[in-house]
Amino acid sequence: MRLLLVEDDPLIGDGVRTGLSQEGHAVDWVTDGHAAQQALRSEPYELMILDLGLPKKSGLVILEELRAAGNDLPVLILTARDTVADRVAGLDAGADDYLIKPFELDELNARLRALHRRSKERSKPVIRQGAIILDPASHQVTQEGKSIDLSAREFAVLQLLIENPGRVFSRARLEEHLYSWGEEIESNAVEVYIHHLRKKLGTSVIRTIRGVGYVMDKVK
Ligand code: CA
Repeated sequence: MRLLLVEDDPLIGDGVRTGLSQEGHAVDWVTDGHAAQQALRSEPYELMILDLGLPKKSGLVILEELRAAGNDLPVLILTARDTVADRVAGLDAGADDYLIKPFELDELNARLRALHRRSKERSKPVIRQGAIILDPASHQVTQEGKSIDLSAREFAVLQLLIENPGRVFSRARLEEHLYSWGEEIESNAVEVYIHHLRKKLGTSVIRTIRGVGYVMDKVK
């Protein structure tokens, strides 16, 4: 997933970014309210982790403005333990969940998965298309019951396609999904991931729409 992390505490920000990157997410980290709003305008995020106490513009105002603009991006707020009023205000302003500092990365990850699942209107934790089952929690993929070994980025490509069956993704859109700011993108990286996925799952699983992109067809 491509995530926006808004946190001005360097230790928490660095820890969260490192932890989530290891899970295979592409994380952009900003440390003030203005940078957060700029990032939201420029990138197609799937989720935002938002601290409330921020320089330049508070998390609460960012959230209120986001919702006022009709943006329903899933948002998890980070708050301090002693501020019940803040958490209530955050939820009332349109946050989908919150986590109290200090928190464990495992819990943050589990909450992000749950938020993402709800945003896709899925009730089940695993995603199934035909004979392929993908489990975002354990990072495991099986095909006809057989375990398939995928790299973190191959997994991320497959998850995006399998969650959106029938939708065509351009190479540029896949790159945006896979890479955070400052990460070097090899010019043919997406083609290589698709090639590997086809080798492991069969050539018919992902279809190329010439000049447009890639799609996984809906399977009953
Ligand atoms: Ca803060």
